Amino acid sequence: MRERLEDYQKALVGKPPEAILHWALLEFGAERLGLASSFGAEDQLLTHWLVSLEPKARIFTLDTGRQFEETYDCFQRSKDKWGIEYEVYLPDGEALAQLLSEKGPCSFYQSVENRKECCYIRKVQPLTTALNELNIWVTGQRKDQAVTRGNLNEIEWDQVHQIFKLNPLCNWGEVMVWEQIKTHKIPYNKLHDQGFPSIGCQPCTRKVAPGDDIRSGRWWWESPEHKECGLHNRPK
Ligand code: SF4
Repeated sequence: MRERLEDYQKALVGKPPEAILHWALLEFGAERLGLASSFGAEDQLLTHWLVSLEPKARIFTLDTGRQFEETYDCFQRSKDKWGIEYEVYLPDGEALAQLLSEKGPCSFYQSVENRKECCYIRKVQPLTTALNELNIWVTGQRKDQAVTRGNLNEIEWDQVHQIFKLNPLCNWGEVMVWEQIKTHKIPYNKLHDQGFPSIGCQPCTRKVAPGDDIRSGRWWWESPEHKECGLHNRPK
C-alpha cells in the first residue's frame, strides 16, 4: 500500500476537507476507514462531515480514564445528536494496575519517560488495537497546532502502524474550524469556551492565555519538542 502514497498526495493536495473525506471513503471503503475522535473541535467538525457522507462511518475514541467531565459531556451530546455507535478503546487493565501500583497515579509529572509510559498504556496501546482493523485513519491535526506538526500533509504513511493517515484539516486555521462549528451548530467541548484550545487528559491539560501557543497548555512542564503523546509520531 505504501507505494501509492505519492499518487495519493498529488491527488489530494489543496483539496477541501470534505472532498478529501469523500475521496478516502471511495478509495478505502467505510469498513476500513476510521476517524479518531477525542471530541476536540477539529474532531467534531470531521465527525459532522463524515456522518453526512456515510452514516455508518467508523468513529473510535480512546477512553484514558483521566479525561475531563466536560469531555464525557461532549461525548454524550454527540452520541445523542448523531446516534453514532462510537468504538471505545480502554487501557489494558493489568498494565494500568501495575503502573499505578509501582509508580502511583501522577508519575507523569516526574519525568518525560514516566509521562510517555502513561501515554503508552492509556493511549498508544489502545490506539494500536483500534488501528489493527483499518487501512486508513483520519485525524484532526492541523499544521499550526504545534511545532511538531509544521510539515503535515493531507495524507501520510504511518510507519508505526503500517497504514495511511488522513489529515483533512491540515491546512485549516482555528478560525475556519470555529466558523463551521457555529454555522452547523455542531456540539463541542465546553472547555473550549474557558481557555482550553487543545484538550487532553485532565491532569495534563491547563488553560492558556489568549494569543498563546495552542498546545502550550498540554504537558506544560515539558519543552515543546516533546509535546506529542505517541499517537502522532512522525518522521523528522
Ligand atoms: S496525557 Fe497525561 S494522564 Fe493522559 S495518558 Fe498521557 S500522561 Fe497519562
